[in-house]
Amino acid sequence: IRVRPLTCTETRRGDQQVVHSLGDGAVHVSAAKHDATFGFSAVFDAGASQEAVFEGSRMRQLVELAIDGFSCTVFAFGQTGSGKTYTLMGPLAQSETQPASPALLGLMQRSFTCLLEQSRSRGSDLALSASYLEIYNEQVRDLLSPGPPCALPLRWSKTRGFYVENQLRVEFESLEAIVNLLLQGSQRRRTSAHALNRHSSRSHALLTIHIRSRAHHAPTWVLQASACPSKQGTLCFVDLAGSERVKDTGSSGELSVEANSINRSLLALGHCISLLAKPQGKRTHIPYRDSKLTRLLARSLGGSGITLMVACISPSSRCLSETLSTLHYASRARRVTTRP
Ligand code: ADP
Ligand code: MG
Repeated sequence: IRVRPLTCTETRRGDQQVVHSLGDGAVHVSAAKHDATFGFSAVFDAGASQEAVFEGSRMRQLVELAIDGFSCTVFAFGQTGSGKTYTLMGPLAQSETQPASPALLGLMQRSFTCLLEQSRSRGSDLALSASYLEIYNEQVRDLLSPGPPCALPLRWSKTRGFYVENQLRVEFESLEAIVNLLLQGSQRRRTSAHALNRHSSRSHALLTIHIRSRAHHAPTWVLQASACPSKQGTLCFVDLAGSERVKDTGSSGELSVEANSINRSLLALGHCISLLAKPQGKRTHIPYRDSKLTRLLARSLGGSGITLMVACISPSSRCLSETLSTLHYASRARRVTTRP
């Protein structure tokens, strides 16, 4: 759980701080009619630095597991303005002109640094490439390919599970190159924001790093007998669209196509998580096919992946109901087990 500080606006209008970290992964929500304590593997409060979040969430281990061939996923979840993008990327994505101070870089850039350090220390053992997609209105779009965005087909195969056809994969070898890809992609996601009414919070963005370790330490005869396959891992960062739309639109009854898609995918995600959180014996069929998002996250959620979920919340009294729903959602997610 990450609790962001109160913003200037919130402080100015005198919002109460209703969320408090109690240490040891406990977080307490106290307001007039609500008084609840939740337990998680880690809670980062307003004072926690980006570095503390990176180290305390054990992101470093996740990077190492990805190098070892596992499918690792980090997803940031929470209402709009709760700090998802800040946690993943830092304030850098928000200000175009001046680069963010290194201390404020998010989980993504820190993971890239860690990955490239590992890569360097292993010689040229690792082949790295990246893909960057967004799901907008139930369409999968490539954020790295030039030209106007076009929808890519999502397919399923026995060997690969769900995958996106024709998605661009760009190889990279330096920190600068991957950070540029991230910026380019986020820019494309954001450019449409002006035309399409806060598009950025209305699409889910998935950046995937593909890591292949060439098995070049093995003697040639081993390679020929294919007894020593190369390992292929992935490290995927998911910036989900804001969750409060579900309620907003539900109450107004005016469902635009856009809000409807977000509803659909976030509800589908919540539904899959609820079912996955049930004990093994009581589990029914998991409806991954209900949305593009759940299809793409199928492996991370319930399959062979290793997943870190960062639930972002605001400490303000005005966000209370969203905060509680995020905490409940996260508590369910915590009970999900995968078999890496
Ligand atoms: P989201 O992506 O969930 O919509 P953002 O990451 O854009 O939210 O955060 C909303 C605002 O709050 C931004 O101005 C961001 O810089 C600020 N913010 C979020 N988390 C923190 C934090 N931990 N420390 C300082 N500022 C933060
Ligand atoms: Mg955001």
